[in-house]
Amino acid sequence: MVVPICITILDPAGPSRSTCGYCSEPGQRSAKKTSFSTGSFVSQLSCPVYMDMLDRGWRRSGEYLYKPNMKKTCCPQYTIRLDALTFGPSKSLRKLLGRWNRYVLLGESSGAQSAKQKGDSAPASFVDALHASEATFLKPGTSSKYRFEVTLEESTFTEEKYSLYHAYQRRVHKDERDTPSSFTRFLVDSPLVRQPIEYPSLPPPHLPKNYGSYHQMYRLDGELIAIGFIDILPACVSSVYFVYGEKWEWASFGKLSAMREVSLAREIHEAGVEEMKYLYMGFYIYSCPKMRYKGEYSPSFLLDPESYLWHPLEAWKPLLETHRYASISFPERSMGAITNGEADDSSSEDEDDHTYPLDLALKTLPESLWDEVMIVSSASNGQVYVTPASRWTHWKHEGYQTKVVSMVEALGVELAKAIILNP
Ligand SMILES: [Zn+2]
Repeated sequence: MVVPICITILDPAGPSRSTCGYCSEPGQRSAKKTSFSTGSFVSQLSCPVYMDMLDRGWRRSGEYLYKPNMKKTCCPQYTIRLDALTFGPSKSLRKLLGRWNRYVLLGESSGAQSAKQKGDSAPASFVDALHASEATFLKPGTSSKYRFEVTLEESTFTEEKYSLYHAYQRRVHKDERDTPSSFTRFLVDSPLVRQPIEYPSLPPPHLPKNYGSYHQMYRLDGELIAIGFIDILPACVSSVYFVYGEKWEWASFGKLSAMREVSLAREIHEAGVEEMKYLYMGFYIYSCPKMRYKGEYSPSFLLDPESYLWHPLEAWKPLLETHRYASISFPERSMGAITNGEADDSSSEDEDDHTYPLDLALKTLPESLWDEVMIVSSASNGQVYVTPASRWTHWKHEGYQTKVVSMVEALGVELAKAIILNP
């Protein structure tokens, strides 16, 4: 049997900085307004490698991968994940779900609550409640006012998807600049290489067969009403983006979709994929109140930027209240003390030094590592030739070295040995 190997080749872009999009929000507390990150382009990315990158604070936007420089950036972005196996919806989430189901099954309009529903007992689990109004889950003979369908499909471009996205951007973000090609770059193109999910036995037909990028399509009587853009990876479902039509503002689709995504992770787990356990919801930005909604689901955990261990969200709150940059594993490394609602970063010596500390990074990393980090030296006729960084012609060229070293630092030693860099 031939075992296919998926090689990940990253094209590091080096450290970068940009004007922060969160500081402009009212209620923010940083005055620095500059966001720092390390990024990389990638055309082919293995799902297990991306899973490990998420656990090091990385995230993708189309075919670009980036990791915030948490110590320097004005609004630190903590990776947040929700435990799908122990998640239980709050009373208000259950209400939203019940309201949507009554709308689909009975045609009851928003806000209406019939007397007979008030006394109903809740279904056995929220997974059952979630599927209760879906056409393919209805018991034979059950009538439904509308036909509600949720399906997973590969991430491809259609005019129908683009027009829903375009209307959403205009309405919710007051943004009219998007085009079919910017939509494609952001939400259709994906470097993730599909790879079979190894279920121990045949899974239910609505579950995905492969890891990779998907569009979760919500249809009512055939009309596309919402799309969830998600990645399905070895240990998690990762939310990328979500859009819905204007008619459905009343339904709180953002919350319904979060429940549907957490349920998907749980159902894959229950179909026998032991390691599938979480919904990754992207970044949690404590310094921007508008972005704290991701913490409304429980139990949630934030990734520690020093140790890369996960700690419960509640445990973070006291430290995030007092420091711009916080670590629970190493509290003494927290910095940017908050006084009068503003982060005081005068103590950090490199505040105005925006150059990458190459010498320091080279000293911190073991020298033998550069015999193991592989670089693309040339490529032709579909063949790729690699060489260890230490023997690479451009290794002593500062510009190239900065790209490689900053990337290795951001990936961590183990992950850096598992991929190939093409600076
Ligand atoms: Zn900011």
